[in-house]
Amino acid sequence: MSQQILKALNLAEMNSGTYLGQGEWSSTSDAGVLEAINPSNNEVIARVHASSEADYEVILQRAQEAFKTWRTTPAPKRGEAIRLCGEALRQHKDALGSLVALEMGKIKPEGDGEVQEMIDIADFAVGQSRMLYGYTMHSERPGHRMYEQWHPLGIVGVISAFNFPVAVWAWNSFLSAICGNITIWKPSPKTPLSAIASLQICNAALKAAGFPDIFFLFNDARTELAQKFVDDTRIPLISFTGSTQVGRLVGERVAQRMGRSLLELGGNNAIIVDETADLKLAIPGIVFGAVGTAGQRCTSTRRLFLQESIYEGVLNTLIGAYKQVEGKIGDPTLPATLMGPLTDKASVQRYLGAIEKAKAAGGQVATGGAALTDRPGNFVLPTIITGLKNSDEVVQHETFAPILYVMPFKTIDEALGYQNGVPQGLSSSIFTQNVKTAEAFLSAAGSDCGIANVNIGTSGAEIGGAFGGEKETGGGRESGSDAWKAYMRRQTNTINYSDALPLAQGIKFEF
Ligand code: NAD
Repeated sequence: MSQQILKALNLAEMNSGTYLGQGEWSSTSDAGVLEAINPSNNEVIARVHASSEADYEVILQRAQEAFKTWRTTPAPKRGEAIRLCGEALRQHKDALGSLVALEMGKIKPEGDGEVQEMIDIADFAVGQSRMLYGYTMHSERPGHRMYEQWHPLGIVGVISAFNFPVAVWAWNSFLSAICGNITIWKPSPKTPLSAIASLQICNAALKAAGFPDIFFLFNDARTELAQKFVDDTRIPLISFTGSTQVGRLVGERVAQRMGRSLLELGGNNAIIVDETADLKLAIPGIVFGAVGTAGQRCTSTRRLFLQESIYEGVLNTLIGAYKQVEGKIGDPTLPATLMGPLTDKASVQRYLGAIEKAKAAGGQVATGGAALTDRPGNFVLPTIITGLKNSDEVVQHETFAPILYVMPFKTIDEALGYQNGVPQGLSSSIFTQNVKTAEAFLSAAGSDCGIANVNIGTSGAEIGGAFGGEKETGGGRESGSDAWKAYMRRQTNTINYSDALPLAQGIKFEF
């Protein structure tokens, strides 16, 4: 099965994790090896050579050269390049979706869905390439014109997390490309194959149409090269997706050199369900949010606040739904599977550790609460924990696993206080049929998150909206709306077409 997927993506003979540009993959073999592991059985799918410092230098130099021509290529033509990437991804959707399922462990429909996100952002970027708008302003001086324009930044560095091994790169690199930048990608060491395959698919399409290299890739066995990347003054923007812990370091280091960072970090997302809610919508919304991708989405639902009068009923329905999911845990590449494994044994330990902490704080396991030791791989049961307070330490942290803390509330104000009462601020949602409650949730005094939904869950964002969150989630925005502006520099221009030189604010300076 895994050999078939690798063959379909021309990866069977591939062992380099470094795209150097000019059609060349590095032959470095002494910088360490990355093992792509199947989290369903912990067997090695393939081994990939990591990149060396010399590889990194070649990439940087070639990227700098490439930028000189790409920055003056008309933006709609840059859009055409990304249109071709989108077309190539359409052709490879099934195989790439399967590889994501195999290597990351999300179920096949979610793997395909991730590739669909790449295609969607490609389409979005094509349109955006004709809409890199700046304002014009009325000058206070006669015979003067003022406007602003947006120029590319140069090289954009992308560091991505294991749980969205292909879409996050596409969100960044496709918009970055139509903005006129060259993108260098350092993917998660857990998912090198998905990265290599994505780059190969897009680069083949670009090369066939005569476009230059705009996408480069390196993989490091440890984090030395990633740290060099973060500190590299030749890279004006580092877009980092990952944990708050690493993101904080990256943000501080980039700020130290006055670079820009775009941070997409951890979440601790909540759903509020009030007594008017339509439970036909709420129950599947909660279960998909908490259990989907085995709780390994940044937008996974981790906290659930139920109004007191519906607390027992909803909890019991959820326990019943979780029991059904338990019967569908397994190999994510198989069609009947609803929940795949965690990414590695360390994640299983963190899951078990969080459950122990929850119990020590007075929590009760309502369902789940154990790893599945009857099979290979990193499988755990989806878990609901009750009896904790929102302020309990374990509830305040993101555990990247399918654990849902369920807590009751009396009033909407109380629920909003809980919802906002964590360090993270990514995604939030409310299920209600009360228009006043919904509007209060969306108001300036409501949810403090970057994403706030009504009558849909916390996960599964569309690419059309800007994606990201506040507080310890890092404040970055990617994907739709005007997120493209993060990949460009703004320039304000004033042109004097008069015969005089009037100074602004009426200042006289005569000599
Ligand atoms: P992680 O922080 O362990 O790793 C992320 C990336 O950082 C990897 O590529 C890793 O190799 C790299 N890295 C590690 N140390 C580094 C260093 N010192 N300097 C530079 N790079 C370094 O995260 P993960 O376990 O891969 O992903 C899970 C986390 O990502 C979760 O917290 C999740 O919420 C978050 N996430 C956030 C979003 C979002 O959009 N907000 C999306 C996906 C994942």
